[in-house]
Amino acid sequence: QRPPGNPTDPVARLVVISGPSGAGKSTVLRRLLRECDLPLAMSVSATTRPPRPGEVNGVDYHFLDRDEFRRRIDAGDFLEWKEVFGLGHYYGTLRSEVTTGLKHGRWVILEIDVQGALAVFQDSRWDPVSFFIHPGDMNELERRLRSRGTEDETKIVARLKTAAREMKFSDHYRHEIINESVDHSVQEICEILKEYCS
Ligand code: 5GP
Repeated sequence: QRPPGNPTDPVARLVVISGPSGAGKSTVLRRLLRECDLPLAMSVSATTRPPRPGEVNGVDYHFLDRDEFRRRIDAGDFLEWKEVFGLGHYYGTLRSEVTTGLKHGRWVILEIDVQGALAVFQDSRWDPVSFFIHPGDMNELERRLRSRGTEDETKIVARLKTAAREMKFSDHYRHEIINESVDHSVQEICEILKEYCS
């Protein structure tokens, strides 16, 4: 693991978290926001994927149709956007989500796919603290995806294929979290973030 950024870095900064879908990222992040005593904020991404039951527009995602998404690409509203591997939908980080959070001294968390993360890593202005979360092995991932019950068989197969591709990118992240226990992952991420404050 690389050492924390130099002491002249502003305290509030960008945090990038990726990992295969089914790795438990959302649960860990929900708990991290509640339990870690740092001023954290989630960036709410935009997507063309339809909402899952219970998802709320503007809270879980900004749900946009393709035309609106393209219009916002052309307007330069995205810090990064991608058609996520194999899912057939666009996902993107709105610049406004990031600038507003940072302006208020918050650590802004981007939960984005590996392609989006690489785009952010390549832009030296951001220098994010980055985490790759995964469940250890692919069988465990498959079990978790199936038990979630939100996707049909074709989508599960697509997500598993995507996951296998994503796992190859873990080396690009500063920190790797094997999510065997949510409690432990939350604590580990919070402690690592605090190291960047000292
Ligand atoms: P889901 O459909 O399960 O909510 O998300 C699918 C994938 O899209 C996840 O890997 C998630 O990290 C990624 N994703 C969500 N928001 C963004 C975003 O703003 N940009 C990029 N590049 N990927 C995103």
